[in-house]
Amino acid sequence: MSTETDPQRMEKIVSLCKRRGFIFQSSEIYGGLNGLWDYGPLGVELKRNLKNYWWQVTVHERDDVVGMDGSILTHPAVLKASGHVEGFSDPMIDCRTCKAHLRADQLIEKKGGQQCPNCGGKDLTAPRQFNLMFETQVGAAADESSIAYLRPETAQSIFVQFKNILEISRKKLPFGIAQIGKAFRNEINPRNFTFRSREFEQMELEYFCRPEQGMELLEYWKEERLKFYESVGILRSKLHALTVPDDERAFYSKGTYDIEYDFPFGRQELEGVAYRTDYDLSQHQKASGKSLEYFDEETKQRFVPHVVEPSAGVDRAVLALICEAYSEDQAPDEKGRMETRIVLRFQPRIAPIKCGVFPLLKNNPLLVAKAKEIVQLLRAQITVFYDESGAIGRRYRRQDEIGTPFGVTVDFETLGEKDPALRDTVTLRDRDSMKQERVAIQDLPAILRERLV
Ligand SMILES: [Zn+2]
Repeated sequence: MSTETDPQRMEKIVSLCKRRGFIFQSSEIYGGLNGLWDYGPLGVELKRNLKNYWWQVTVHERDDVVGMDGSILTHPAVLKASGHVEGFSDPMIDCRTCKAHLRADQLIEKKGGQQCPNCGGKDLTAPRQFNLMFETQVGAAADESSIAYLRPETAQSIFVQFKNILEISRKKLPFGIAQIGKAFRNEINPRNFTFRSREFEQMELEYFCRPEQGMELLEYWKEERLKFYESVGILRSKLHALTVPDDERAFYSKGTYDIEYDFPFGRQELEGVAYRTDYDLSQHQKASGKSLEYFDEETKQRFVPHVVEPSAGVDRAVLALICEAYSEDQAPDEKGRMETRIVLRFQPRIAPIKCGVFPLLKNNPLLVAKAKEIVQLLRAQITVFYDESGAIGRRYRRQDEIGTPFGVTVDFETLGEKDPALRDTVTLRDRDSMKQERVAIQDLPAILRERLV
């Protein structure tokens, strides 16, 4: 377990996220709602790029995985069968001195007993079980029969629809069902910015298999998932696949990895990859009375499939991408003096904006018209941002700070004023090296397409 933390770096990241419109506190003008976050214009693009890429590699690029999108409000019987109604709880203790609500594992052990971590008080309530699910009522009748839950994970709707999807997709084992969607947990202590939130998004795959394939597929999916994080720009050396020890694993799991990342606030879990055996399907088969068995045409065997589950947190991954991308270097300002440059070094495929487009001067109609033509040319393929205000160096900095990998500048050479041979060429600037090259406008779409993968 890594204990190295860098609170100062984390503070800068949180401040950048708000300043540039990645992430805001939910209901901020009313004082905020704890543990809930809103994604701004850049945050939503980043998050979508991540989810779309996950969907592309997990569903579209594979023959053995199909997708689904289940409802958030969930029948209580589903969550009774899965064990969430009974068991999905944390022991909770209140401090009578400072009124803090605490998870039992947050208390400080001192000789002579336990203490409140806030005030040092010893006047504590007995632990009580606190269910982490949000309960709500469906329909007009407010009684026991109308109770539903906001799903605490997306996985259960996959298990519950397993039979339908098996039949209509005509897949053979092993095959998977993928889902991206919101889930809700009433965390006692949300913390570390968006890392532990009460409303969050998951990218989950339930990969069904024969019992004898389970352990091998656990290893396979652990490796696939590590590769995924690398392919969106996270350094392999900052990722860790922790083998969850026997006594900490769910009792039905035959093996679980936690994929962890070195956040500025410490090493924390991004994703769990768990071999859940046939536990979930068996529970639902028992509780619903409906067969969830698979019939193997070749061997004529009938059995409940086992499942390996890579379950990733979208918000955690977005936060990891921002933390990983954040960097500061030295670059010359307009007058050639060195200054600190903030750069988000996003992997181009996940960057919210792919290319900035700038006319050198905003009061020259020819430069402006040409730049707007380029915006139209590129907009069909990629996200572009047009900016004409301020010195060109400042405009570059603004794009560096939000991680835009490329910048295109329209200058007088573009208009053919200095050298007719340079007519309809622009400078293409690279965010990381800050190097500029001269390219023909008509080549821009192909050049960017090649570099944006
Ligand atoms: Zn206290």
